[in-house]
Amino acid sequence: MIDPFGRAITYLRVSVTDRCDLRCVYCMAEEMTFLPKAQLLTLEELDRLCAVFIGLGVRKIRITGGEPLVRRDVMTLFARLGARIGVPNGMGLDELTVTTNGSRLAQHAEALYAAGVRRVNVSLDTLSAERFTAITRRGRIAQTLDGIFAAQAAGLAVKINTVALRGVNEDEFDGLVAWCGEHGFDLCLIETMPMGDIDGDRTDQYLPLSMVRSRLKRRWTLEPTGYRTGGPARYYEVAETGGRIGFITPMTHNFCESCNRVRLTCTGTLFMCLGQEDAADLRGVLRAGASDSELEAAVREAIARKPRGHDFVIDRRDDRPAIGRHMSVTGG
Ligand code: SAM
Ligand code: SF4
Repeated sequence: MIDPFGRAITYLRVSVTDRCDLRCVYCMAEEMTFLPKAQLLTLEELDRLCAVFIGLGVRKIRITGGEPLVRRDVMTLFARLGARIGVPNGMGLDELTVTTNGSRLAQHAEALYAAGVRRVNVSLDTLSAERFTAITRRGRIAQTLDGIFAAQAAGLAVKINTVALRGVNEDEFDGLVAWCGEHGFDLCLIETMPMGDIDGDRTDQYLPLSMVRSRLKRRWTLEPTGYRTGGPARYYEVAETGGRIGFITPMTHNFCESCNRVRLTCTGTLFMCLGQEDAADLRGVLRAGASDSELEAAVREAIARKPRGHDFVIDRRDDRPAIGRHMSVTGG
C-alpha cells in the first residue's frame, strides 16, 4: 500500500479497547463514558481485519488501547496474530508488539512471549509512588514495576514511555535515564499532544522536549544514532549507560514525511493520521458481510486519503483539544 505522498504503509496500530484501569491526567478525564460493548469489534473481527492489512503489506502490528491487557481474552488475539509472524510469501508479520501501562503485565508476560511478542512498551512517567498515583489518578506503581520486571524475566525487551509534563515529572528525567540504563531498558520521552477533554488545561502540561534534551545534555553524553523503529522517535545513545533514549516531538518537529502507519480503533474505524479527523468505517463494511477483497478495497480507498501530516498546535489562548477524541480511542 503506497499512499498519495509515496509512503509505504507497513505498520498498523490496533486499539483493542477504549477502557482502562487508570485515568492518566494527560490522557483521560476523571469520569469517562466508555463505549457500549456491542460497538466493539470482537476479537475474531479484529483478527480478520488484521489479516486483510497483512495481505496488503502490513508487516508490523502494535496492540494498544485504552489498556489492551484489560480486554477479556485478549491473549487469544495475540496468539492468532503471533501465528502469522514469519509466514513466507509476503503474507506474514515481521513483528507483533504491545503498548501497556504494565498493571497486568506480570500475569501476561509469559503468554506474550509465547505468542511471539519480543518487545513491549510500558508507560511510566515517574519513579515516585506518590506521583504515580497522582498522575494516573488511581494506579499503584508496584504493580507496574512488577509487570516491567516480569516482562524482562520472560525475555521481552522493554521500552519505557514517559510523557514529559511541565512541573510534574520534569525533575525526574536524569533519574529515569539512570534507572533505565541500570536495568537495560530503552527510554522514550513523549511530548503531550492536545487530544480529548481531560478536565484541565493542557497548555499547563506542555513541556517542549528540545528543552528537556538540552537539560539532559548537561549530565549525559547523548550521541545521535541512526537507530529507528519505523516510528517518529529520534534516538540517541547515552554514552555513560550504553542505553538508548528516544524523543517523540510531534509539537516541535514534524515527523510526518516518513509516516508508515495507520490506526484501527476498537470499533473498526481506520484513522489515517493520529492528528486528523478523517476516518473510514471498516466495521460497517465488515458487518455488511464483505468478502476479503471488498474489505481490501475499502482499506485501499482509505489509504488513498491519507493526509500529508497532522495540524497539532499548542494554542495558548484556547484550551479546547485540537483533536476531540482521546488518545485512548485511537490508540497511542
Ligand atoms: N494504556 C496503554 C499505556 O498507557 O501505555 C496504551 C495506550 S496509551 C493511550 C499509549 C501512550 O499514549 C502512552 O504512552 C501514553 O502515555 C500516551 N499518551 C496518552 N495521551 C497522550 C497525550 N495526550 N499526549 C501524548 N501522549 C499521550
Ligand atoms: Fe490508560 Fe494508557 Fe491513557 Fe493512562 S495513558 S489512562 S494507562 S490508556
